[in-house]
Parts: sequence; structure tokens; C-alpha cells
Amino acid sequence: MNESGAERGAAWLTRIGLDQLIAKLKELGYQVVGPRLGDGAIVYDAIEGVKDLPAGWTEEQEAGIYRLRRREDDALFGYNLGPQSWKRFLHPPVLRILAAEKSNGEFRILPPLDRPPRYAFLGVRACELAAIAVLDRVLLEDAFPEPNYLARRSELVVIAVQCTRAAPTCFCASMGTGPGVRSGFDIALTELGEGFLAQAGSERGRGLIESVEHEPASEDLIRQAEEAVADVAARLVRRIETQDLARRLQQALESPHWDDVARRCLACGNCTMVCPTCFCTTVEDTSTVPCDRVERWRKWDSCFTESFSYIHGGSVRTSVRARYRQWLTHKLSWWVDQFDMFGCVGCGRCITWCPAKIDLTQEVSKVVASG
Ligand code: SF4
Ligand code: SF4
Repeated sequence: MNESGAERGAAWLTRIGLDQLIAKLKELGYQVVGPRLGDGAIVYDAIEGVKDLPAGWTEEQEAGIYRLRRREDDALFGYNLGPQSWKRFLHPPVLRILAAEKSNGEFRILPPLDRPPRYAFLGVRACELAAIAVLDRVLLEDAFPEPNYLARRSELVVIAVQCTRAAPTCFCASMGTGPGVRSGFDIALTELGEGFLAQAGSERGRGLIESVEHEPASEDLIRQAEEAVADVAARLVRRIETQDLARRLQQALESPHWDDVARRCLACGNCTMVCPTCFCTTVEDTSTVPCDRVERWRKWDSCFTESFSYIHGGSVRTSVRARYRQWLTHKLSWWVDQFDMFGCVGCGRCITWCPAKIDLTQEVSKVVASG
């Protein structure tokens, strides 16, 4: 016998219900982070309620192009992706990891800064859930879990949103990460007109839906939501051919096309900063003068800088060719050897935010073809 929508934890929420959900999460002590307008883009930041969401806004994206645009309706989630990913909350760009102060001639280690907030993310797309799974694999599931990531990740509540439109830069379908949200969430919302189909992905999600005004979702609503996502899948045009890609890239390490990309690439590192899965960091030590307080800060780093590969007396990747090749082959080849998954989820941010309009989907196919 087929389960009804209600038995599957599916409900219809109005915007009032969504507002109550945000309020409930705040009441439970979560900092709710969601999309809002900021810096001429849709960014992720703390939100207080539905009033903060980017109603009626969308974006235009292409290689090297991002512009906000008004929509003809007032959809709350009618955009795809802005420059920021959830990585900035789980794996912050700048973090103090150690501090010590001298007193009575001896250095004393200071206690850590305040505990990180308990986050509830609202508006996580399918590719972004996949990106969080990649970060989990790298930062949690090895022999030594990264404690700062663990502290932020362990209590995370995830409210996902299904994509009902695709940007021309998206290629999640070919990476197997979207457009449909399948797992890793507490609640998945599909925006349909003035309300949402809310589907529980965990007991916690089911309880949250139960705690706000809702109605049982009809089978017709569930079908409408499935059709909306299927329609997005049909409209995705950009893709990477992933069949045997890790091996084919390793065979193309001397492809002449790396030189072609290197002539265009500015080595600015934008692609690594916007990428939801790039996790590399460096440390910076500071001290007061005279030296009675020292601090160690962890900061995002980029493999596009020459200093990134500095090892006892020199950098091992001095050319832009070597650095671009490292970045691309790490994502799509070495990562597969190391973690048995791609390090790219097909979000397309590196395409949109590259000032030189370099598009990894095109570069990969040219490298492999000429390798
Ligand atoms: S590929 Fe583009 S974004 Fe990345 S470093 Fe080169 S110019 Fe910058
Ligand atoms: S490499 Fe580019 S498309 Fe892939 S996850 Fe990173 S930013 Fe997104």
C-alpha cells in the first residue's frame, strides 16, 4: 500500500508557517542563517523571519557575470546560488585557533573564544548538501576529525530548498548531486506559489513541521513538486562527462591545453574562495611588541598562490599552468583516488565568479580531448 503524503511526513506550509518555523528554531536556541540581499548579491546571513528573505529577487549568471534581477512574482527562493556557500559557517574563513599571554614571566594558554552558534541553515540546495557531504568526508571522517568543524556541524539543522529553476552555470546533474534534494536534510521545502511542500528528512524535521501551522499535503501537491524538480533537470544544459574522468585526467597531465588556460588565468584565487568544497587553510602567527601575547589564526588559503606550495626554500608550483592543473585535477581526479568521490559538486560558482570567464566544464573536455 502506498503511504499518504502525511504518513511520509509531508505537509503544506504557508509563509506564516515558515515564519513560525524560523521563530521555533530561534526559540530552540539556533542561529538561523538564510538567504538575504547584501552587497549586490544574495548572501547567507542571520535572518529573523520571512521578512528578511529575498522576496521577488533572482539572479542572472553566466561565465564572469552575476547580476540581481527582479522577478515577476514574489518568490522567496526564486534564485539559485550567490557567491557564498555554507562553508563559511562550518569552516570559517578566519578563525583564532590558539592564544597565549605572558604573566609572571610565563606564557599561559588562553581559553578558546566563545562556543560557535548552533546553526540552522535555511535554503540549502541539493548541490550544497553534496558539498557539505564532501566537507564531512574530508574534515570529519578521517582518522582525526577537525574539532572546529565538528563543533559547528554536530548540531546543525538543515532546511533544504528544491531548485525550481536552474542557472546556466549549474551542472549538478552530471555530477550526480542534483537538482533534486535526496538526503542529508531535516526538512526539504519546495516553493509552490504562495506556500511550500515541506517534506521531513529526519525525526527532528518531522517534529519541527508538527510544531508549526500546517496542513497535510495532498498527493497532487507532492506530484507538482516532483514535476517542478524534474523540469529543472530537463533544462540543465551544462555538463561534465564523468565516465572514467579521474583516469583520463591523469593521462592528460601534459596536455597542451593547460598552457592555453594558464594564458587566461589571473591566479586570483576567486574560484577557490567561492567553491563550497575547497577546504585548504594556512596559519598566521601574530605577537604584540614587546612579546607578551601571541595568537595563531587559521585562514582560508588558495592553491592559486605561489606561496601555497612553498616547501623548505621554494615553491613547487611556480607557474600558473601548474597551479590551475593542480586545482582541477585535485577536484576531479586525485580527490577520487583519496576520498572515492569528486571534489566538485557542479554548483558553477567558480564559472560565475571567474573574472577571466574560465569555465571548468569546457576546460576539462578540452584537456581530456588533447591529452
Ligand atoms: S580560474 Fe579564474 S577565478 Fe580561478 S584563479 Fe584563474 S582567473 Fe581566478
Ligand atoms: S569546482 Fe566550481 S563548480 Fe565545482 S564545486 Fe567548486 S565552485 Fe562549484
